[in-house]
Amino acid sequence: MDDLSMAGRSNVRDADRGRVARGDLYLAESKLRAMRDRWPEPRLPEQDLAMASVAADIERLRVIVASLPERPASMPPGVELPHDWQQRRSQCRSCGAPVIWGTYPSGKRAPFDPDGTNHFATCPQRREWRKP
Ligand SMILES: [Zn+2]
Repeated sequence: MDDLSMAGRSNVRDADRGRVARGDLYLAESKLRAMRDRWPEPRLPEQDLAMASVAADIERLRVIVASLPERPASMPPGVELPHDWQQRRSQCRSCGAPVIWGTYPSGKRAPFDPDGTNHFATCPQRREWRKP
């Protein structure tokens, strides 16, 4: 195996690690919110214990996510970007605006404005778009 393919493989692993960590953090935060809604205070000891365990997961995942490369401010949680997104700008085919392609936890890809807003919501030509 040559150096180039080795580098390629390690980049894929980094991207996977980022997607998994952001996806897990997003799910853990949703889970904690759901537990808070479902179990109003005062809580049973086992409910407190279950929530503390999810809160500990969130803290651990936040540390991992904070160590990941920077991303646009408004990028929704859970959306993963290529590790080299800052170099990989493309253009919207309708309006020509610069966009970054990101991947939702479901695997669905979408274009984002440089600030992280989904370009499907901001494109001036969005009304002309048709589903393929
Ligand atoms: Zn556009």
